[in-house]
Order: sequence, then C-alpha cells, then structure tokens
Amino acid sequence: MRRNAPIAALLLLLLLPAALDAQARRPNFAQPTLPPPSITEYQPRSTLVVPENPVPRAKYPVVDLHGHPPSLADPATIERVVAAMDELNLQVIVQARGSSGSRLTRQIDAVRAAGHADRFVFFTTLDLRNVGPGSGARIAAQLEEDVRAGAVGIGEIGKQFGLTTRKADGARLQLDDPELDIVWETAARLGIPVFIHTADPAEFFEPLDYENERWLELAIFPNRRFFDSERFPSFEELMAERDRMLAKHPNTTWVLAHMGWHTQDLGRLGELFDRFPNVHGEVGAVLYDLGRQPRFARDFFVRYQDRILFGKDSFQPDEYPYYWRVFETEDEYFDYYRNYHAFWKLYGMGLPDDVLRKVYYANALRIIPNMPEAGFPR
Ligand SMILES: [Zn+2]
Repeated sequence: MRRNAPIAALLLLLLLPAALDAQARRPNFAQPTLPPPSITEYQPRSTLVVPENPVPRAKYPVVDLHGHPPSLADPATIERVVAAMDELNLQVIVQARGSSGSRLTRQIDAVRAAGHADRFVFFTTLDLRNVGPGSGARIAAQLEEDVRAGAVGIGEIGKQFGLTTRKADGARLQLDDPELDIVWETAARLGIPVFIHTADPAEFFEPLDYENERWLELAIFPNRRFFDSERFPSFEELMAERDRMLAKHPNTTWVLAHMGWHTQDLGRLGELFDRFPNVHGEVGAVLYDLGRQPRFARDFFVRYQDRILFGKDSFQPDEYPYYWRVFETEDEYFDYYRNYHAFWKLYGMGLPDDVLRKVYYANALRIIPNMPEAGFPR
C-alpha cells in the first residue's frame, strides 16, 4: 500500500482537474435502485402551495408585433380572430406572416370590408431567393409598391435568411450582403421597421448531448438541429453578420425577433442595445427564459423599456395569458405552456405599469407608422 502512495498521489494529481470539473457539472448522485424513468415519463406534480393569479386578459391593450394569425382573407376567419383578440385585450395584431403584392392587398381589403381595419396592420415580405446583381433594386421597388398599398413594415424575415437561403451563384446569402443595402436604406427612407428573425436558440447550434439544455426539443424536431457545420453557419457567425448589417444601417429601425435569441444572456443584449440605438427586441417564444430570471429580467425591462415590444409568434389564444402572468404578476413556480422548450417553472416579473404600457403598445405605436390609435389610452 505504502509503496504505491507516490503513484496514487501522482494519479490523483493528474485526475484532479477532470474530477473537479465533473463534480462541478454533476454532483455524485446515489444511483436509483429502480429503473429510472425517461425524460418524457418523469412528470412530478408540484406540492408547492402559493398564491396564484392567472391573468386571462392583459392589463392594457396590446399590440402583437409578431402576429401569425391565419391568412386574413375571408370574413369568417377575421371574425374568429377578432373574437379571440377581444377576450385577451389584444387591440392590434401585426400580420407578420408577411405577404406581398396581391396576397397583401387581398388581406388589407378583406379586413377593411369586415369593418376591422383598426385591429390589423400588415407587414410585407421580401423575396430573398437567388439574389444576384440588380436584385437589391428590384426588391426595394417591390417594397415601395407594398408600402404604397398599405404595408407598414417588413417581416417577419425568417431564419432561412442567413441559415439556408442561397444566392443565384449558389453561395449562402449572408445577412450583411451589400446587394441588400439598398433594401434596408429604402426601409429607412420609408420610415418602416424591419422585423427579422436570425438564427435560433444558441443550443440548437450545439452538439445534441446530455448537457444540451434543449435536448428534448432537438430530439423531437430534427429540423431544429443546426450543429452540422458542413451545412450550417455557427450561431456566432450569424450574430456577427447580423451585427455588421445593423452597423451599416443606423437609420433603419430594426426589431430583432425573439430578442435576438439573447434572453439567456441579457447582458449581451443590453450591450447590443447600447451599441445600436435603432435596434429593438421582440419577446415572442422566449418567455421560458424571462420567467426563469424574473428579477434580472425585470431590471432589464425597466432599463430598456423603450426598446422592447410584445409579440407572441404562433397564434394560440390560450397561450397569451402565460405572457400576461409573467409580465404582470409576482406569482412563483408555475407551468410554462410548452414543456419541450423548458422543463423548468416560471416566475412573474411584476413589471411596473409604465413599463407594461410601453412593452404592450406604446413602443409599437411609436416605431410603426400609421398605426390605428383607437382603443389605446391617450
Ligand atoms: Zn414568427
């Protein structure tokens, strides 16, 4: 035993950094004496009893900047959507399932004919496929035409831009491609916001191992896996292209969908906001991050209250109240609506009223031109 002591000490020394590292990440659990359940089987019910204050209806009228209702081309659909909006106190939906040309004007006309022109506004879309010399001017001309027809913004520009969209020459269309400069400058001249979704949660670009925070979601949806560097740029490459694009166009009003996918690192988003005063963030589909850091997120919302806009993304009326509850209450440890986004619970941020008003509607009324004003507090 004794004569092996130096060897044992040496071994320990060699293994120590690895052991400490493993320990930091994984406490040494005792092993179950029963077969453990799988990640989908284990659904513990909470025994916690605390005050619960569900919020079925938002405290102030809301603009949903990231609206994805169905196409608003027929009266029955329009009435169904308006009825759901009334329940939730959604005053205006931005149709961010962007459409252009006759698909745009058909919806604008239908909403007007139904008597609901004050409940919907429309963003246009850009055809970014096969960009080559001269494409920028052509896209900008279509943009001008759509804005004349009533569009009040661009978007949602989807994540394909940057991830997969190809140029005419077969190369990946980078976010900061100079051919598109004229498009973003035209948006600036027309005074309309550009609403853009870049990349996806950073974990979607990381290996699908048991330390990936989004393992379950990635296991369910193969088309959300972007870690193959042969096929996709990295998260940081996309962020760098995006930031160069933002830097080139300081007079364009940008709205980053999903808060630029930086809600797990709000400090980084704050630096971005500080660097680019023309950049805003939209909160769709990142509630799971805000609700797990209610105090830090509240401070962030107070500090950047002029830069954050409400948006929901997919149009599921029963999911909006989760947002109202996180923003408006100080409730604790309650369920999120989609367990594959987050296996953790949410907490309320208890935002002050003046911040709520800005996030819910005032910032949208400021940055989107020709917004209907009916229904909003003066
Ligand atoms: Zn969207």
